Amino acid sequence: MPMKSWPVFVLGLCAGLMLAAAFGLAQPGHRVEPTAAAPERASVALAPPGATAVQSAAAPKATLSWEFAAAPALPPEDGKLRIIQFGAHPDDCEIRAGGSGALWSKLGHHVKFVSVTNGDIGHWQMAGGPLALRRTAEAIKAAEILGITTEVLPIHDGELEPTLEYRRLITRLIRAWNADIVISHRPNDYHPDHRYVGVLVQDSAYMVAVPFFCPEVPPLKKNPVFLFSYDTFQRPNPFRPDIVVAIDEVIEQKLDALVAMTSQFVEGGALGHAGLVPRNEEEMQKRAQQVRDSFKRRFASIADRCRQKLIELYGEEEGNKVRYAEAFEICEYGRQPTLQEIRTLFPFLPKK
Ligand SMILES: [Zn+2]
Repeated sequence: MPMKSWPVFVLGLCAGLMLAAAFGLAQPGHRVEPTAAAPERASVALAPPGATAVQSAAAPKATLSWEFAAAPALPPEDGKLRIIQFGAHPDDCEIRAGGSGALWSKLGHHVKFVSVTNGDIGHWQMAGGPLALRRTAEAIKAAEILGITTEVLPIHDGELEPTLEYRRLITRLIRAWNADIVISHRPNDYHPDHRYVGVLVQDSAYMVAVPFFCPEVPPLKKNPVFLFSYDTFQRPNPFRPDIVVAIDEVIEQKLDALVAMTSQFVEGGALGHAGLVPRNEEEMQKRAQQVRDSFKRRFASIADRCRQKLIELYGEEEGNKVRYAEAFEICEYGRQPTLQEIRTLFPFLPKK
């Protein structure tokens, strides 16, 4: 090559490498292969290197590995609703919207739970890689029971920060799912990981539609509805139940999913102790029943606290009958749905 051609060659090489990196070509192991059903949206890189494991309800056999196992299958553009929820740890989405997830899934809608951290300090006795794998397996089991898709991101528990890198990650995940509804924690939750999930999702609420933010992933043409899941924190403002869902018909399914998250609810998670660990099948049954009863009281308390909204949405008679509920607040960022649209987005609410 003549000397005077070198600068052009080097410039061309740099531009090529930048393009390759932007389109995920530099990391072939982490690409989602295009599918016939969703070629445009599936051909982008979704996860950073080292994602612990992901699982689709359509492909329930998981291979747990330190290597990135497989990217989650993207649902087809079939006119069904697409819901994505972000929880801080493997159990947060399941607790807060496992019932609604099961109800959407029964109607053929596409639901994905994302645990933004891998939960690797969430136990009193074990931590690190083995716990991350254990909790990922629990999330996969719960997803199978609920009929949804799940993904656990490779971020350490207790260490999430609201960075630009993670704003991009959350934005890409929302776009790739082509979400109609995005659910997260409120940004005033007690746990820093919960709070920062709330901040990151809020930070993405506008950016998902901005074409030159993460230009390698197509922007959403329609801004999703952003929702916060129920909590009891009072400052700076208490949770407002804008949408309350009766989960009575799927309560046993939801409890099955939660009991399957043994490290958290049978063994007590980060603040548990050896006395909770069942030593035999009989003790396991007893402990599982305690967990079920405790969660039933929790979901009954949500129904009671949000009774007025249940009556508004379900009518006087049905609203008063509801025993167990999940509740959501509409974030003021993102699309603001009318009551009619809420009934479309939550098609298990009675039509008025
Ligand atoms: Zn959590």
